Amino acid sequence: MAAVVTGPDAKPAASHRCRFELKKYNAAFKCEVCRVKSYDTGRYRCDHCGEDRHIGCIRLADEIELGPGPNNIFSTSPVFTVFDNPRRGRNSENKKWAKNCLVCGMPIRHYSYHAQTTENKDLNMHPCCAELATFNTNSRVPLELQTGERHSCVWCGKKRPEEASKYGPTDFYCWSYRLTEGKNRIHVHCYTEMVIEALEQLDDDDNRHIVLKRRRSSDRNDLESILREFINIGLNVAGIGFTDIFLDLV
Ligand SMILES: [Zn+2]
Ligand SMILES: [Zn+2]
Ligand SMILES: [Zn+2]
Ligand SMILES: [Zn+2]
Repeated sequence: MAAVVTGPDAKPAASHRCRFELKKYNAAFKCEVCRVKSYDTGRYRCDHCGEDRHIGCIRLADEIELGPGPNNIFSTSPVFTVFDNPRRGRNSENKKWAKNCLVCGMPIRHYSYHAQTTENKDLNMHPCCAELATFNTNSRVPLELQTGERHSCVWCGKKRPEEASKYGPTDFYCWSYRLTEGKNRIHVHCYTEMVIEALEQLDDDDNRHIVLKRRRSSDRNDLESILREFINIGLNVAGIGFTDIFLDLV
């Protein structure tokens, strides 16, 4: 299936020679629209310029309405508008973290969905993260999203990933997936990092032995089985179905 993205209203714009085709690869890629490294094996690719895009990023809606979101944080159903860079108003009340993605916490390098709250807080999201928030997980990643930082992430061992802004509020910014029993969680960002690390170790033969270098140094109990389950889900979402994975944590 080919997609050509042209015309003044087509966001994001592409050079008129771009012809994106839906393809499948067993390798991570970086989407040129949201500039997020990703593990989805299905993606649009233009062979002419070598550009990859998420399926959801091939053509962005001008506006999206989000709600209610985890903990009903979007209970007012705010409308987010797409811009080619994250927005921060002059009267912004959250200048220090406004240009970081509300969902994954990472800096936004290109396209962003933006809304400003009645308290003049600028909310920005990567398009691929807005997609997660739109469907509240069940279609793209079959895990429940949550906010809050009471428990550390099972992958990085921290309340917040290192690259995220330390200024974002703890009850609102830098979401995670809820794992078993609620107290185990993994950051949206760390989940992607983990699945990419697993994906990069797959080879063409039947070698399903994955060695993960986790950053967390303590509390190994149960971690292996928790991660095994969620790597399986991740690889399934990526389009690689497995029955057996041998996992080593080092
Ligand atoms: Zn192209
Ligand atoms: Zn994207
Ligand atoms: Zn994000
Ligand atoms: Zn983490």
